[in-house]
Amino acid sequence: MNQRSASRSAPGDGALPHGEDLPEIFTALARSENTACLLTRERRLVRTNEGWVRFAQDNGGEEVLRRCQPGFLIDDVIPEPLRELYASGFERALATNTPWAHDYDCSSAEAFRRFRMLVYPVKDAFVVVHSKLVEAKHKDEVHHGDRSLYSECGVICMCSHCRRTRFPNGRGRWDWVPSFVASPPANLSHGLCEPCVHFHYPGL
Ligand SMILES: [Zn+2]
Repeated sequence: MNQRSASRSAPGDGALPHGEDLPEIFTALARSENTACLLTRERRLVRTNEGWVRFAQDNGGEEVLRRCQPGFLIDDVIPEPLRELYASGFERALATNTPWAHDYDCSSAEAFRRFRMLVYPVKDAFVVVHSKLVEAKHKDEVHHGDRSLYSECGVICMCSHCRRTRFPNGRGRWDWVPSFVASPPANLSHGLCEPCVHFHYPGL
């Protein structure tokens, strides 16, 4: 496959600000199983690869697929507690011209999954690649979702990183509730559990 056919067939057509060619690193990923996307320096979507579209389809991401058109600001799909972390990671990659690696949990209802995101700074753009590090059966105690049990002042709080759910008045107890991941409750809000705060924001 040559570069021309790879870039032409990639879904999510968009353009770089000055009409540059797609970075080679991205055209090499056009048909990859790894999810990848190309962003402008302002973190606006230029295009996604086939693996990105497939991952969204397989994980109930129709809403994300519908919203993530070229020009879309990627920060808008990052949960609010994580936006600063992501923004500083992207900026550091650009300032140091070094890829930024960030590991995160994105479990499904059936399996614990950990991914690594690599952000490559390229000329006037970022190439972002996600690779699966771990996929295994859940070991944590599993609670089947009685929504009223987890609701506190009308809100259910899920950790933005590990997707566990806060148990009200549970003295720091966060449970893995597969049904909330499979079908997020309408009154869901995002927060950060204590281990994720300490892991991702050391020194806070
Ligand atoms: Zn967490």
